[in-house]
This record gives sequence, C-alpha cells and structure tokens, in this order.
Amino acid sequence: MEASTADCLFCKIVAGEVPATIVRETGTALAFRDINPQAPTHVLVIPKEHHPTAAELAAASPALLADVVTLAAEVAAEEGVDGTGYRIVLNTGPHAGQTVFHVHAHLLGGRGLEWPPG
Ligand code: 5GP
Repeated sequence: MEASTADCLFCKIVAGEVPATIVRETGTALAFRDINPQAPTHVLVIPKEHHPTAAELAAASPALLADVVTLAAEVAAEEGVDGTGYRIVLNTGPHAGQTVFHVHAHLLGGRGLEWPPG
C-alpha cells in the first residue's frame, strides 16, 4: 500500500495541504473535526498512512487499526462523551455512503444516537 496518494483529500489533510481543525494527533493517526458535523461531537479519525477501507487497513496493519480506535476513544474522553456513550462508524462502500476512500472512523457523540441508522 502506498503511504499516500496524490489525489486523496485526507492524505492532503495529513500533509497540511488542506486545512482542518485538528483535535489530536499521534505518530500514526490524526483526529480532526468533520466539516459537516452530524452530532455535537463529530470527529474523523484516520491513519496517516493511506488505506482505502477498514478491511484493507485491518489486513495490512492490524496495529494501525488499533491505533485509530485508541485515538478515537481518547478523543471521546477528551470531548467528555465517554460517560454518556458514543458511536464509532466505519462506512465502507457506496451503500454505506463512503465518499472518501482513505479509511476514516467517524466518532459521533453528545446526543442520543438512533438505531438502526438510516
Ligand atoms: P464518508 O461519507 O466517506 O463516510 O465520510 C466522509 C466525511 O468527510 C463526511 O462526513 C464529510 O462531511 C467529511 N468531509 C468531506 N470533506 C471534508 C473536508 O474537506 N474536511 C473535513 N474536515 N471533513 C470533510
């Protein structure tokens, strides 16, 4: 897997070429606010390395997937939504509405979240 792709929006955010509101960062992962928030807390957590989907990331680098989930949990605690609960969503493919093919975990919290999702 390439470390980044020239036409990938989230690789450009990692590189600082596209601005984003960064919430927290580790050596391997980045958390930034979604530009179109769907909940009081809506943060995207990504591996800095380019992998298109969660399944491809899990196959290539399970530890990096764990880094992403760990960072999401840290952000949830920092945002104060860990007590009430939160959702981590990994949209995969067109039916799930994946629009950016650099894997990203949506961290959603701060309000009651319906189930099943739409
Ligand atoms: P997906 O639909 O692929 O699961 O999620 C992509 C998410 O990226 C959407 O929630 C969308 O609002 C967010 N997004 C798209 N473009 C940008 C951008 O330029 N900056 C930020 N911060 N979020 C973006």
